[in-house]
Amino acid sequence: MNPVFVHDPRKGKTLHEWFSLDGNPDLDKTWMTTTLEYLDDSGELKLMDVQLTPADFAVGEIRFKKQFRKLAADAANLVPVVEFIDLPEEARQGKTPFVYSVDANKRLVRLGVSAAVVELVEERRKNWQMLQYLAGFHVARMDATHRQSIDSLQAQYKDSLKQHDTSLDAIARAMSELAASSKAPVGTGRTIPIVPVAAGTAAPSCGDAAAAVAEAIVTLEDSTKCTNCKTCYQDLPELFEKTRMVIDGESREVARLIPGALERVTVTPELKARIKRVSANCDAEIIR
Ligand code: SF4
Repeated sequence: MNPVFVHDPRKGKTLHEWFSLDGNPDLDKTWMTTTLEYLDDSGELKLMDVQLTPADFAVGEIRFKKQFRKLAADAANLVPVVEFIDLPEEARQGKTPFVYSVDANKRLVRLGVSAAVVELVEERRKNWQMLQYLAGFHVARMDATHRQSIDSLQAQYKDSLKQHDTSLDAIARAMSELAASSKAPVGTGRTIPIVPVAAGTAAPSCGDAAAAVAEAIVTLEDSTKCTNCKTCYQDLPELFEKTRMVIDGESREVARLIPGALERVTVTPELKARIKRVSANCDAEIIR
């Protein structure tokens, strides 16, 4: 899924107020997190949290098959691709970037990543950071060239403040297009994190944390009881998301509160009304 962004000059007086990334997951992070499901040596289902980069996405695409190679279990000098792209050129020498994946038997493997895919990951990170910058997020890591091109666009944008709104819109669009453009046709997919829980026990969802927050506007009592009727994450996508849990040894889709969403959301009468409606329609009656 490509990032979603909106430019609306009616929203305020500054570029950061006009430019919004609302609707994207993990807005303040470079990568979304997902969970890899695999079988260990005894055949037991295990879960591993991984950062979802374009490389992790590309592993599942047949068109990128030649860009990955299975690495021997005892291979040395391996560096996860998310760390590899932070290394200066000279420090990369002799190291192999990799991503975790599973083979046909669902066993955990490490796959070496080609230089083309490494470049793709770097490019996508750059584009996402530009969008974050436009939306007013502090982006700590940004190389000098990248920052220079953004600053130049910012200067053009400020100059246009004296001109017509149409010009502003045109430049904003250009900035958006520049930010969204990429050399390769790969986007980042929506994460479906998997959380292991035992049946009948409270899920380690954000709902538990929410319950501890005084005056939480909404709570989700126990995700293991969710029947996945889809109501909450379709009608309140800013608060709920689909996730995956291992319940009684089986992987199931359920809903959960998005971690941190309660702190980020702006409470309006309209939101309260939607929460009330979703609570009334929750098939499992676990949203309060
Ligand atoms: S509304 Fe209730 S039952 Fe439906 S997906 Fe959400 S938590 Fe699950």
